[in-house]
Amino acid sequence: MEYISLPKPYVDVVAECQAHMGEQVTFSGTVHRVRSFPEFSFIVVRTDRALVQCLFQGEEIGGIRREDVRDAMVVKVTGRVHEEVRAENGFEVELSAVEILGKPYDKLPVPLGKKYMGLSLDVDLPLRPITLRHPVKRAIFRVQSAIANGFSEYMISQGFVHMTSPKIVSAGAEGGADLFKVDYFGTRAYLAQSPQFYKQYMCGIMGRVFEVGSVYRAERHNSSRHLNEYIGLDFEMAYIDSMFDVMAMETGMLKYVMEYVKKNCAPELELLKANVPEIGESIPSVTFHEAKQIMLEKFGHKSKNRFDLDPKEEKMMCEYAKEEFGSEFIFITFFPSEKRPFYAKDDENDPKLACSFDLLFRGLEITTGGQRVHDYQEQMDKLNRRGMDASLFESFTIMHKYGMPPHGGLGLGLERLTMQLLGLSNIREASNFPRDMQRLEP
Ligand code: ATP
Ligand code: MG
Repeated sequence: MEYISLPKPYVDVVAECQAHMGEQVTFSGTVHRVRSFPEFSFIVVRTDRALVQCLFQGEEIGGIRREDVRDAMVVKVTGRVHEEVRAENGFEVELSAVEILGKPYDKLPVPLGKKYMGLSLDVDLPLRPITLRHPVKRAIFRVQSAIANGFSEYMISQGFVHMTSPKIVSAGAEGGADLFKVDYFGTRAYLAQSPQFYKQYMCGIMGRVFEVGSVYRAERHNSSRHLNEYIGLDFEMAYIDSMFDVMAMETGMLKYVMEYVKKNCAPELELLKANVPEIGESIPSVTFHEAKQIMLEKFGHKSKNRFDLDPKEEKMMCEYAKEEFGSEFIFITFFPSEKRPFYAKDDENDPKLACSFDLLFRGLEITTGGQRVHDYQEQMDKLNRRGMDASLFESFTIMHKYGMPPHGGLGLGLERLTMQLLGLSNIREASNFPRDMQRLEP
């Protein structure tokens, strides 16, 4: 009987090869590209993270014929590493053994071996299990993974507890008609359009909580910034003095995330030609009313939207932040209460305004957050003022009824942050298998 006591170690092929210059190495990967010459071929092997140039000399190695090696074959190769400045990462592997682990049964449907495939989204998205193999495409999702990891690491370092919330729920948190209906054993349920209620409950229990989870919006948008399923980076914190505590936490988190991405994704950032923003001590912040004033004075723009910023205005405010403060981010605070959710706390000085903010990054909203109502009477009054049936919210207001600390939090769209960080023009590029109105597959 054989006992396996240790997990197989992960091999960083590039680091391993660089550490064994002049010696023999063995690693596995997929044939990414073959360039043949009369006497030899360059076989570029795509490993988990990098491309490695291998040199196949002669007509055959250990029974494998040179002419049989083709794109998309999965191989285990052995050879001596030597310096080669013209190759990726500055080395080349001179093959002495090749083993075939897997093989393609058809010609690749896309030119994976090219530096840029130049595919339209309509061609790319249906073929995602294959197109994501391309180094540039998969780099996006390494960066996205680092954003989520950096977020989690920072949150944990600040005493937040990693929570999860149910995604099958009986009502929406944000209201509106953007809910997907689910048949739940004969009764009507919905897919959660936000973890809002649950993170509020949990912050009354744990003090500080965060979640990385799926969010469902049945919005009939066909825009470059909306998905019907996205990943929310959410947090909620208790014992705050004001929403500015939430904004300060987000600032610290984003600074950490940017450093984390730079530290962990240097090859990907280079491949994607991404420009990671500098975040100073604080992110500039203007109120919603100031923003409208600024747009009028600086850009001669008369806003038609009394409750929100439209996409053009988000761009304008980011242009202003760049010019005025040299910042790629800007907070907009104190939105009119009327169009903010019923759980948002109103400003004590002017109840027409909510203690609610958005964060804009490179011309796009990436976050909405704020301070929440924590007092039971205040929450009941607000529901009543809005003509909402408070009895439908008993499972929510139970927490207020039995005492809640002052608290607040935010939601940040992972794909939106990825898209803005990497300068992608459509949010679908920042979602590995996007759900939009046309797509349920792959
Ligand atoms: P927008 O005004 O751009 O439609 P929103 O204000 O409706 O967004 P929120 O409910 O505030 O969105 O959600 C919080 C965050 O979640 C947003 O700032 C954004 O980053 C992200 N987000 C919201 N809706 C979507 C969506 N449909 N697809 C991808 N990300 C989204
Ligand atoms: Mg919003």
